[in-house]
Amino acid sequence: MARLLIIGCGGVAQVAISKCCQNSDVFEEIMIASRTVSKCDAMKEKLEKTTKTVIKTAQIDADDVEALTKLIKEYAPDAVLNVALPYQDLTIMDACLAAGVDYIDTANYEPEDTDDPEWRAIYEKRCKDLGFSAYFDYSWQWAYQDKFKDAGLTALLGTGFDPGVTSVFAAYAKKHYFDEIHTIDILDCNGGDHGYPFATNFNPEINLREVSAPGSYMENGKWVEVPAMSIKREYDFDGVGMKDMYLLHHEEIEALGRNMPEVKRIRFFMTFGQSYLTHMKCLENVGMLSTTPINFNGQEIVPIQFLKALLPDPASLGPRTVGKTNIGCIFTGIKDGKERSIYIYNVCDHQECYKEVGSQAISYTTGVPAMIGAMMVVTGQWKNPGVFTTDEFDPDPYMEALNKWGLPWQVVENPTLVD
Ligand code: NDP
Repeated sequence: MARLLIIGCGGVAQVAISKCCQNSDVFEEIMIASRTVSKCDAMKEKLEKTTKTVIKTAQIDADDVEALTKLIKEYAPDAVLNVALPYQDLTIMDACLAAGVDYIDTANYEPEDTDDPEWRAIYEKRCKDLGFSAYFDYSWQWAYQDKFKDAGLTALLGTGFDPGVTSVFAAYAKKHYFDEIHTIDILDCNGGDHGYPFATNFNPEINLREVSAPGSYMENGKWVEVPAMSIKREYDFDGVGMKDMYLLHHEEIEALGRNMPEVKRIRFFMTFGQSYLTHMKCLENVGMLSTTPINFNGQEIVPIQFLKALLPDPASLGPRTVGKTNIGCIFTGIKDGKERSIYIYNVCDHQECYKEVGSQAISYTTGVPAMIGAMMVVTGQWKNPGVFTTDEFDPDPYMEALNKWGLPWQVVENPTLVD
């Protein structure tokens, strides 16, 4: 029925590709195109005997708009799924516009070079105007609204788990459970253990930039920023148990804050073990998280990129990670004049994911919604000219697809709230 061009072949992409191949009725043909084509060829070899989906591969530098436009025009897909890095969001959107094809991704734009003076001037103004200082934000991609609308194309932003599923949970809660939502707490718990003293579960550069940024939340339409890891809570997660979690800035707060302005407070918490935090603080203190190039023995290196080369590849953690994740949202508000609170969440087992697709649960919980988002767009269930996040469409078909494709969810009334 549809042909999908998938860009990137890392941890998340490998799950999205495997799930597209399980869903051959929708994805009759896919092309895997990435910087290192040998990874694409290895995926093709692994999967082609197990699926009816026809798999092609290509080498591409997604920073090169001209080359990418040519590839898209030649392959003529129904949509492009960007599971490369947030650095490529804008170039891939430009190529989709030039080739006249729908666009889907899992993370909002951030620049690779945070010292670029042109980007920095806009960033510093945004920090002042809006009040949060993370490097990633939606303004760059929301600026494509008219271009996609005028071209009659859909851009679906952030269809991973968080952001992605968490925003679909919000739309679902609003549609079926509340007349008014007052607060949203998004809780991301990884109870998995990979046995390394320090490793990240997705791209280390993107992950460490995210978690070392100051925390922030939205209250009455305004951002409140606090020092990184300064707000800590304990929560007893179904399937995992008691964990420490910390307030972080996260991109769905921005989208939900804009699209559900009636919500009075939106927060995001993620669990971290003490070993992770100690390592991260130490690496930060010695300058290893810096994105500013330094000269080392006559060669220019970017410290965080050097660190990435030393750390385990997240795609290699699958066989050794045990335990579960629990990711979801607690909503409070009013229904039929009475106060109500619900918790919608998914529990995912690292080893079950590994058995099914050869990946740990963080890649799995992102790659499955990436496939589902692509399915929503190519089947026309979520098709609207313009640029949208996942809370802006009918949540029901997406929620059904989560149950069908490996991320079943549950709704609990009157959960323990986070103070
Ligand atoms: P990886 O680093 O494992 O994979 C990234 C892939 O993109 C690699 O195959 C890499 O190629 C390729 N790539 C990088 N630059 C280019 C380029 N210029 N041209 C073509 N290909 C390129 O990352 P992850 O799989 O961990 O993460 C993928 C995305 O998923 C990220 O955007 C991340 O932020 C997002 N994410 C979203 C989550 C959510 O819940 N919404 C959660 C987790 C991740 P090479 O093999 O050569 O390095």
